[in-house]
Amino acid sequence: MKTFVYIDHFKGEVQPASWEALGLAKSFGTAIALVFGAGVDDVVKAAVEYGADEVLVADDASLGDYRAETYASTLSALVLRQAQDTASSLNPNLILFPTTARTREMAAMSAVDLNTGVLTDISDLEVNGESFVATRPIYEGKVLEKTVCSGKPVMATIRGRAFPKPNREEGRSGTITKVAAAGEAKSTVEGYSASESAVNLGDASVIVSGGRGVSNNPSLTPPDGMDEKQAEVWRAQQGFALVTDLAQTLGGAVGASRAAVDGGYITYAHQVGQTGKVVAPDLYIACGISGAIQHLVGMRNAKVIVAINKDADAPIFKQARYGVVGDLFQIVPALTQAMKKKLGK
Ligand SMILES: Cc1cc2nc3c(=O)[nH]c(=O)nc-3n(C[C@H](O)[C@H](O)[C@H](O)COP(=O)(O)OP(=O)(O)OC[C@H]3O[C@@H](n4cnc5c(N)ncnc54)[C@H](O)[C@@H]3O)c2cc1C
Repeated sequence: MKTFVYIDHFKGEVQPASWEALGLAKSFGTAIALVFGAGVDDVVKAAVEYGADEVLVADDASLGDYRAETYASTLSALVLRQAQDTASSLNPNLILFPTTARTREMAAMSAVDLNTGVLTDISDLEVNGESFVATRPIYEGKVLEKTVCSGKPVMATIRGRAFPKPNREEGRSGTITKVAAAGEAKSTVEGYSASESAVNLGDASVIVSGGRGVSNNPSLTPPDGMDEKQAEVWRAQQGFALVTDLAQTLGGAVGASRAAVDGGYITYAHQVGQTGKVVAPDLYIACGISGAIQHLVGMRNAKVIVAINKDADAPIFKQARYGVVGDLFQIVPALTQAMKKKLGK
């Protein structure tokens, strides 16, 4: 079976789930990486080293900035060329993408050209004869939906961290074939600026999150002149400094509950849950978070959950593999110190 794997990147910085998609493709047979952009030699090299059997590269100035018109057209033209060429050995049965804002857009546009559909955010994929059986979480992760898809090609975007990432083999060589860019850009990119959503919880292997409990340290005396709300936020910021220190020690990212976000303790980009990000890190440490269902749906796929809460009956403990009952203002710094010592930091 042949699978095209779209390697999604921003100015050469690859979305890690692209490699996970490549690993999944390899498990089915031949994996052909697609790299689009301008000056993308490093991405091509990485695709070979992560195991691509072949890389099809559209390296063209018109693809220097991602625009759905040109990227989707380049993909559609490439796939249609293979389908129409009876001698082609590259006609894909399946096209995989990592799930990102860009790929949701370009895959949907290209699916129209290719007269097929797109399965988004899948967490499992099996081959059943000529068909694929895709699994994806729906209703905020409460239900897993199985969809049987046939047709050629099947298109699917995979959920980050749902599939293993293959090992990189430095210096591996492979076949690289240039392909043409297609489509006419109808928009111009004027520039880029970093946004709050630069917080990358989706790819983090470790997340340390804080909830309303991070504001609950009555022994901290806020600076003079603060009203009650300002004092609460100030206390929460001291709490989040501890959470951040632990996250940085473990090389992870900082998450938050909605109560923490609504309380003004931290920005929305950090929110985990039903109305925030859905994450699946190897390790999730919840500090001062009660474990409301709307939070749990965002993090219950973490491999290991650790909960720190002073209430032994908090629902989060039902989800946690390890639970620490106590005051986070004592436990989190002690844990950070212990980890710094262990990791030699
Ligand atoms: C439509 C809808 C969507 C929602 N979406 C989300 C979402 O995306 N994400 C989300 O998180 N929530 C979401 N919520 C809100 C959710 O229902 C909860 O209100 C929220 O998750 C509670 O956050 P919390 O656990 O931080 O706060 P609380 O429930 O107030 O819990 C605070 C916890 O901190 C503990 N604590 C206090 N002090 C300390 C201390 N010093 N040391 C240790 N522990 C301490 C307490 O024992 C308590 O368990 C949503 C709600 C609705 C209705």
